[in-house]
Amino acid sequence: MQTITITKTANPKQKPDPAKMGFGNYFTDHMFLMNYDAGEGWHNPRIVPYGPIPLDPSAMCLHYGQEVFEGMKAYRNAEGEAVLFRPDRNMARLNISNERLCIPLVDEKLAVEAVKQLVAVDEDWIPQGKDTALYIRPFIIAVDPHLGVHPAEHLLFMIIMSPVGSYYKEGINPVKIFVEQEYVRAVKGGMGFTKTAGNYAASLKAQEKALKNGYSQVLWLDGVERKYIEEVGTMNVFFKLGDEVITPSLEGSILGGITRMSSIQLLESKGISVSERRLSLDEVVAAADRGELMEAFGTGTAAVISPIGELIVGDRHIVINNNQIGPVAKMLYTELTDIQNGRIPDPFGWVVKVRG
Ligand SMILES: *Cc1c(COP(=O)(O)O)cnc(C)c1O
Repeated sequence: MQTITITKTANPKQKPDPAKMGFGNYFTDHMFLMNYDAGEGWHNPRIVPYGPIPLDPSAMCLHYGQEVFEGMKAYRNAEGEAVLFRPDRNMARLNISNERLCIPLVDEKLAVEAVKQLVAVDEDWIPQGKDTALYIRPFIIAVDPHLGVHPAEHLLFMIIMSPVGSYYKEGINPVKIFVEQEYVRAVKGGMGFTKTAGNYAASLKAQEKALKNGYSQVLWLDGVERKYIEEVGTMNVFFKLGDEVITPSLEGSILGGITRMSSIQLLESKGISVSERRLSLDEVVAAADRGELMEAFGTGTAAVISPIGELIVGDRHIVINNNQIGPVAKMLYTELTDIQNGRIPDPFGWVVKVRG
């Protein structure tokens, strides 16, 4: 494996007040960089002081969106050691995104090592306090100074980090979700299963509309029939109809979340089976009419588990579980965050120490 060189800053920044941190507003003292040049491959992995990078105005990522990213978190365990949650899964998914966007694959082990070393260098940036973490953002951009649509020959892999509090101002309280029936996020054959900037650009219009009306996020329906449930904003989604826990199956337009995967494993370990299948909006509304829409929640690294208290379908406002967090969502939130923060043993081998 290539050696990562480390250059430390001479001017460490002041850390933000954890109570006022919000999400994604502050960045740590260091960042990771690695270059790709055709013929040379990925090279020069390095940790340097955080700061602006020179970028040619013709850099292809700015014009054609050849970009991929990841999102993960570092936590402190009960002993105060810095830990990561399933970082190998993030880097495996990074390569799934890379493959779709014609970005040269990265060495997943080196990428995980880069995260570990960067977190170790900025370890004192992992905030203390409930619902806080150090959010880690690996990303790759095409930097060829060139106008013309083709896969890049020069790319930059970077990792930046941000101490964060709750993703939603509501915290773990239920959110209102608007079912989007006009705009779509992704279609099968497109890039929906990747984490790439373009998917989020496509989502802004609907997100803006939802926010204006007082809702936190949108529920996306499939782009072809506008019938089947896909995701909630930047989270995967689970419903409990009667006794059945259901999450939409991954068929190309949905992002395969690591929190989704872990939630399924956790539920199954407790004897609760999860149906991964197509789930239509009609089926959910019909269940609500029968009084069998028991719970709904989103899953994702940023918010972990986000209960849905109200679903807005056209002019209908469907209140779920009296606008309270349900037992399945609550159990998942508690177990996942307890495992991540080392408050309970990790029977799955998901938690990885940053040092050693
Ligand atoms: C990142 C993301 C998720 C959640 O994935 P996790 O690995 O659980 O964080 C879900 N949907 C979309 C669109 C995402 O970008």
